[in-house]
Amino acid sequence: MTQDQDCIFCRIAAGDLGTAFVYESDAVVAFDDLAPQAETHVLVIPRSHVASVADLGRDQDDLLGELVAAANSVAMTRGLTESGYRLLTNHGKDAGQTVFHLHLHLLGGHTLGPLG
Ligand code: AMP
Ligand code: ZN
Repeated sequence: MTQDQDCIFCRIAAGDLGTAFVYESDAVVAFDDLAPQAETHVLVIPRSHVASVADLGRDQDDLLGELVAAANSVAMTRGLTESGYRLLTNHGKDAGQTVFHLHLHLLGGHTLGPLG
């Protein structure tokens, strides 16, 4: 598994920072965002280092599927399946990516504002 010791999310996934996981599997972990933008704001990340969605190859379709399944599972646990939720990922400067380790934002718990 590729890891980058300088990457904060690699260190979180490795358990180095003692972050509480709300979901974990062999390939994926999820945890609450430090600066939540919604009542529920969970980050879902692969354990292996991938810089962003733009670096996901077709040979990693399984990993993308695992990330989405993990997000759906957390959403279910948080009671969001009926009310709705948003899944998004940022790539690069214009999208405002600040952590260069692929992560899905799971947002919900109330009506969310428009995108863009
Ligand atoms: P992005 O702007 O898409 O790269 O999102 C990065 C997200 O990571 C932001 O919502 C930050 O609040 C969040 N974040 C950064 N460091 C941590 C951390 N140590 N634990 C939890 N969330 C973090
Ligand atoms: Zn990383």
